[in-house]
Amino acid sequence: MDERKVAIVGAGQVGATFAFALMISGLATRIVLIDLSPERAEGHVMDLNHGLSFVKPSTIYVGDYSDCKDANIVVVTAGAGQKPGETRLDLVRRNTDIFKDIVPKIVRYEPRILIIVSNPVDVLTYATLRLSEYPMSRVIGSGTVLDTARFRYLLGSHCGVDPRNVHAYIVGEHGDSEVAVWSQVNIGGVAFRRYCQVCERECSEGEREEVFNKVKNAAYEVIKKKGATNFAIGLALVRIVESILRDENSVLTVSTLVNDYYDISDVCLSIPAIVNRNGISKTLSIGLEESEVEKLQASANVLKEVINSIEI
Ligand code: NAD
Repeated sequence: MDERKVAIVGAGQVGATFAFALMISGLATRIVLIDLSPERAEGHVMDLNHGLSFVKPSTIYVGDYSDCKDANIVVVTAGAGQKPGETRLDLVRRNTDIFKDIVPKIVRYEPRILIIVSNPVDVLTYATLRLSEYPMSRVIGSGTVLDTARFRYLLGSHCGVDPRNVHAYIVGEHGDSEVAVWSQVNIGGVAFRRYCQVCERECSEGEREEVFNKVKNAAYEVIKKKGATNFAIGLALVRIVESILRDENSVLTVSTLVNDYYDISDVCLSIPAIVNRNGISKTLSIGLEESEVEKLQASANVLKEVINSIEI
């Protein structure tokens, strides 16, 4: 196994932007792009290679599934994206069929860790676990890593604080039923409720809801304006990959199979988890308020219904 080889299956908007961000990060020494359209993958590979004199050395090339052999990580971004107005769950049938085809082709070559990005990401992470028969630690959904970043950015700009000092999670589905864990938000170590008491702005409950709605509807807004989301998800993927390749034990809200978590079992959804070279090493049991537990359970039920509707 090559510790620093990353294969990307699906060289569309997300796959290509992730490849670009990964190349700049210098984390990977070999990046291989695999796509249904070798022509598109070839175009991206040429373009990326033309920039190699500006970054740390890496080998970037077009491959096929056999190139998943000895990859430390395979990132799957293949499949249809949302059209304006479409929900992530609308994509389920089309992308499940694609996954039934590609997951066996990937795991035949026994790469170590799979990161699932295609939507609906929680359902496809669950499907990948079943199709691959990999242990749950080695199948990671990008989940709400992106939504959590949006939450930190939007809350930070609302409060006038660097998003890196805003500690906040979005959990549950990466989609319409996702949950903001307001009870655990802290700004620079100060609990959010206390922070608000001493802040001169005196925001209303409605403003708080508005921040969350902007997080939840961010993808719809971006897709309406430019057809796809690609930059922030590209960076979110680099963050997950970094945590694995550098064995960081970072806490990230990735999608994982949960069992007996606030009475939720046998569904993939996002909760804070520790990610290191082995994948997901453990999930954190965060203290949720009763209303947050109810929302998380409702989110799990939405996902379960979809999972039960697909044949895997
Ligand atoms: P895109 O249409 O630009 O790219 C998809 C790529 O997949 C295309 O290049 C296509 O040729 C390829 N593909 C399709 N079927 C394939 C197959 N059977 N084998 C190999 N390649 C195949 O779409 P995009 O904007 O890059 O989005 C990709 C996926 O990522 C979508 O499902 C989208 O909803 C999802 N997404 C997820 C997140 C997240 O946070 N999880 C964020 C953004 C997008």
